[in-house]
Formats: sequence, C-alpha cells, structure tokens
Amino acid sequence: MRVDVVTVFPAYLDALDLSLPGRARRNGLLDLRVHDLRDFTHDRHRTVDDTPAGGGAGMVMRPEPWGEALDALDLDGATLVVPTPAGEPLTQARARDLATRERLVVACGRYEGIDQRVVDHARTRTEVVEVSLGDYVLNGGEVAALAVVEAVVRLLPGVVGNPASLVEESHEAGLLEAPVYTRPPSWRGLDVPPVLLSGDHARVAAWRADAAARRTAERRPDLLHASRVVDGWEVVPAV
Ligand code: SAM
Repeated sequence: MRVDVVTVFPAYLDALDLSLPGRARRNGLLDLRVHDLRDFTHDRHRTVDDTPAGGGAGMVMRPEPWGEALDALDLDGATLVVPTPAGEPLTQARARDLATRERLVVACGRYEGIDQRVVDHARTRTEVVEVSLGDYVLNGGEVAALAVVEAVVRLLPGVVGNPASLVEESHEAGLLEAPVYTRPPSWRGLDVPPVLLSGDHARVAAWRADAAARRTAERRPDLLHASRVVDGWEVVPAV
C-alpha cells in the first residue's frame, strides 16, 4: 500500500519508522511518503494560513497550497483521508475498509482547520473520508494520521507475524478482548485465572468468550445487541 501524508510538521511522522510500520516499510509492504505542505507555497514566509472569512479567532489553512499539493500527488485512484473532529469516528471497521485501498493520502490540518473548499473540490475528483479520533480536539491531524496508518497497516497481509492475533483482537468481532495474562502464574498475590493454565483449549476458549462478553457489557454496552445470555448478561455483538 502507498500512503502519502501532507503536513506542516513532517518530523511528526518519524515514528512510522519504528515497530510494525517501520518493518512494513523496510519489507516493501508500505510505501510511506511524507510531504511538507510548505513546499507548495510561493512566498518568502512559506505561508499556509490566513484569517478566517467572516472573522473570529485563530487562523485557517489557505486552499492554494493544499490544492497544489493534492494536484502534485495526483489523487486519481487514491482515497483522501482528512482527520477532523467533525469526521466519522475512526473504527476498526473503517480501518479494515481503508486497508483494502491501494493508496491513501492523509491531509493533516492545523490551526482552525483546512479551508472547506479543499475537501469539497477533492470530493469531485476522488473518494474522501473524514475521520475523527474521538470527541476531543487535537492541535493537528498528525496524531490522527499516525493512528490511521497504524490501524490500517497492521491489517495488511504479511505485516503482523501471526494473523490469528488480529482475529482475536478487541473490536474485530464486535466485542472487547478478554483480559490477557502471562508468566509468572502468581504475582504480588494475584493469580492468572486457573483455567488459562489448564491446557484445555476448549475451556480456555469458552472462558475467553465469556470474559470478552462480560467486559464488553460492563464497559461498552453500546457495542452490544441483547440476545445471548452470558452469566446473566444478554449479549451479542452489534456487528
Ligand atoms: N476548529 C476545528 C473544529 O473545531 O472542528 C478544530 C481544528 S484542530 C485545532 C486542528 C486540526 O487538528 C484539525 O484540522 C484536524 O486535522 C486535527 N484534529 C483535531 N481534533 C481531531 C480529532 N478529534 N480527530 C481527528 N483530527 C483532529
């Protein structure tokens, strides 16, 4: 997959040289290119912002540098991902969906955001997905770009060593994952649940399913439809 990220802080994306995305880049599974929006300005100060039309606080990103950047990157066949608190929540389902694309272009906003005409114009040329990390406001889209790339890249074939670990994860089956444990069996007076040390795979699977359902019901009932009964909870994944 090719991913282009456009930002005024290219160094923010250096973290994508580490861990799984870094390995995916070195293995040729991820072609990540980071672009400085200021390279698409023409004034001495490399200006990318201006005062808001209609007045008010803060600054807005001007459309011209964005237009030039997106033209230079050629959006044809790409999906433009625009982080914004006004976007759809970034979910595992959306990450799975984006992982099917050949090319993503991520446009990181700053200040009060990007002039709306940039997104409106891009929509006439290609698919645009506006995503929000959550109901809070970040300073810029770079952290969201990191989140999108991490969530998407780990779903690409060959990136995670054992694909089974993806299937069991929180949000994959519509439930939170059961709590996880490792050695030692007892630590500071707290024991690993004995069933996990029993070697009985069927019992372990049943315990995990029930623990996942209970945990989801307690912490994220919004993920559930009523239906299956587990220890008094009626649960079934919403997806
Ligand atoms: N004025 C905007 C508003 O109220 O919707 C917020 C602008 S924010 C300070 C600057 C940039 O940070 C946004 O353009 C977006 O790229 C990014 N951003 C902020 N919060 C975000 C969130 N919850 N999810 C995704 N991106 C976010």
